[in-house]
Amino acid sequence: MSKNTLHPVGEKPREKALIFAIVPKGTDTAVLTEHLDELALLLDTAGADVADRLYQERVKPDPGWAVGKGKIEEIRELAAEHDVDMIVFDDELSPIQVKNLEEELAIKVLDRSGVILDIFAAHAKSLESRTQVELAQLQYLMPRLTGMWTHLSKQFGGVGSKGPGETQIETDRRMFRRRIQRLKEKLKEIEIQRIVQTKGRGSLARFALVGYTNAGKSSLMRAITGTDLYIKDQLFATLDTTVRSFELLSGQKVLISDTVGFIRKLPHQLVASFRSTLAETLEADVLIHVVDASHEHARDHIEVVNATLKELGAEDKPMLLVFNKIDALEDKYVIDDMESEYPGAIFVSALRSINLQRLLKEMQQAIEELSVVRTLMVPYEQAKAVSKVYSDSEVLERKDNDNGTTLVVKVSADKLSAFENEFASFIGLASV
Ligand code: GDP
Ligand code: MG
Repeated sequence: MSKNTLHPVGEKPREKALIFAIVPKGTDTAVLTEHLDELALLLDTAGADVADRLYQERVKPDPGWAVGKGKIEEIRELAAEHDVDMIVFDDELSPIQVKNLEEELAIKVLDRSGVILDIFAAHAKSLESRTQVELAQLQYLMPRLTGMWTHLSKQFGGVGSKGPGETQIETDRRMFRRRIQRLKEKLKEIEIQRIVQTKGRGSLARFALVGYTNAGKSSLMRAITGTDLYIKDQLFATLDTTVRSFELLSGQKVLISDTVGFIRKLPHQLVASFRSTLAETLEADVLIHVVDASHEHARDHIEVVNATLKELGAEDKPMLLVFNKIDALEDKYVIDDMESEYPGAIFVSALRSINLQRLLKEMQQAIEELSVVRTLMVPYEQAKAVSKVYSDSEVLERKDNDNGTTLVVKVSADKLSAFENEFASFIGLASV
């Protein structure tokens, strides 16, 4: 902590950091700048300011120290000069690298994953997201425990005997493992509850907003549905999934969900622990991929989002590509370029409500073109409805039981709403 900073009581003082990137030889400086800008924004969100930026070109990071030995002295001097609290690396460091660097520099060393995890921890609100974040944090910390205790083993560990540090690591490991197990069980329970709660959503067509963090997903959701949501010019303002219903221009009621955004180098522990929430969101019928059109690196963001969707197995979903924040474009010709590069994309401004009608129209069309899989329950006394279902949809599964017939059908969304209108009184609809 800088000794002379002044801050109000009760508010955490902001920390100061040096940031560091290790890049392959010949890396474009624009790319390097973009990555470091993003890291600085992450740190800003986490509550730290960047005092200086450094980089080193290397064929690959040094396995022991990440940077070249010669750089360490330079980092030490700069850290002292700027009086920083930590050094943050843009890429994931191994536990050994963190340990060596911390020993050598006698200062806190973090990587991008660590910063993202801190932000997630600060923003998690619901029981589910708090549990997911804690799980990801423990899994991230576990292999790093060795580093945290070596100073003790060094002090007390004799040759061939176990120092107290080492026994401490074993105890901690056991504790971590037990806690991880418990968190996984807890998440299972929460997940089951969530599935039960969402069963009632019935046959409504579902949209899910996806996109890079800060693209304007929550703003778009608010603009479309007219409900209040947490919107902030921050990375990862939203961690919990929100679902809202609203009517399309035709009057058809649909659901839309807003969830956590993606970012480059999202820690894999986080992707793993948020998988169930994300997977549920991505079970939507149509994805709406929101892009910040005013961002200089919008194209990279599109690629990162597509790659993350692929990792989650959702790359084949019907998807609308929406360029948001067109009000903020300095050069309006950007739209022409994007239009020819991404045919079919829609250009809007959530903030200024520009072109939202067009988006709603496209959403309508997307679900009209869509086939959805739904489970219908037809009571025996209305058995004639079964033949109607057979003629109008593709029946994937049929089960006859005491009360009636359960049919799993693949059906176009407009046929489905026709079923609802015609048979609403006696066909029960349940999501699969
Ligand atoms: P999310 O992380 O994708 O949910 O993004 P948010 O909806 O929280 O918005 C991130 C920031 O972008 C906020 O500061 C919004 O006010 C701003 N924003 C969202 N939509 C627009 C837009 O259409 N135009 C402009 N200029 N800013 C926008
Ligand atoms: Mg949001």
